[in-house]
Amino acid sequence: MALDTSKEIAKKIKKYDSIVIARHVGPDPDAIASQIALRDVIKMTYPQKKVLAVGTYVTKFKYFGNLDKEEYSSIENALLIILDVPTLDRVDGIAGLNYKEIIKIDHHPCEEKVGNIELVDDTASSTCQLIAELIFKTNLKMNQAIASNLFLGIVSDSDRFLLSYTTPKTFKIISKLIDKYDLDFTNLYPKLYERPMNEIRFHGYLAEHLTLTENGFAYIKITPEILKEYGVDNATPSNMINDFNYIKEVLAWTFVTYDEKNEIYKVNIRSRGPIINTIAEQYNGGGHKFASGARCKTETEIDELLKNLDLACKTYKEKKE
Ligand code: AMP
Repeated sequence: MALDTSKEIAKKIKKYDSIVIARHVGPDPDAIASQIALRDVIKMTYPQKKVLAVGTYVTKFKYFGNLDKEEYSSIENALLIILDVPTLDRVDGIAGLNYKEIIKIDHHPCEEKVGNIELVDDTASSTCQLIAELIFKTNLKMNQAIASNLFLGIVSDSDRFLLSYTTPKTFKIISKLIDKYDLDFTNLYPKLYERPMNEIRFHGYLAEHLTLTENGFAYIKITPEILKEYGVDNATPSNMINDFNYIKEVLAWTFVTYDEKNEIYKVNIRSRGPIINTIAEQYNGGGHKFASGARCKTETEIDELLKNLDLACKTYKEKKE
């Protein structure tokens, strides 16, 4: 991260009286943790400023802290900081917000320049890593609770340091967080990883019913009836997709979950070989090279997407042989 960009961001934060912090729709721990951590950092450094973390509240992530429900229509000339999201159309909770400038802090590949200042590094493990780095490089203050949130965001998005964008820098930052803020990190893990028994049984259902093609592509279509049978919501498959990594026969894998309320198919895609975000982008989606998502309206579209992913596995395998 360029020192200048950090300093520029710190300057903007100092300048604005009202700051709104947002992240992507359908948030994961990295998005929520980075958002709440940055809000709390700014509040701690500048107690007199109005700082709001906006977007849909997700009960299962309540251990990171609360979001702000406050009405923001009276705020004028805010600084908007968007986290963990490459495009404005996927930012949650900013409709009608009157903002003057945007700062983007993200670790996805850049799709469009939307910020007056952009701190985008797609080699970073997580947005939480970028926020921690920003704090360490500037005069922004942090405490143990904030450091714990950043720690969990990094652990979660790097999938416990398994994913390839885990670098020496990730470990340096993790080490500094633990050391400087005296984190009892093993006691933080249950927040991320403890689950009820019905989810474990649902996990078993997924493993049992994955279809595996001869090209090394595994997929499953999850119906609302199955979600109801196991007592899980339609966000649960997203939390389990990473668990299916390192299966010997599987190069890429996909969960398709029908969201009844929004009448849309939500698709999680992961890979340990073929590049998948370019395929996801053709189906109202995007993401990282090996971790992407998409949204489809019809089953025909879904079948086409699955076919293309299977083909990508086939091509990848043929090139390797
Ligand atoms: P998920 O499978 O939901 O965990 O998403 C994996 C990655 O793909 C994350 O970085 C998401 O931000 C991104 N992603 C998921 N869905 C979409 C979408 N519809 N459009 C663009 N990016 C997406």
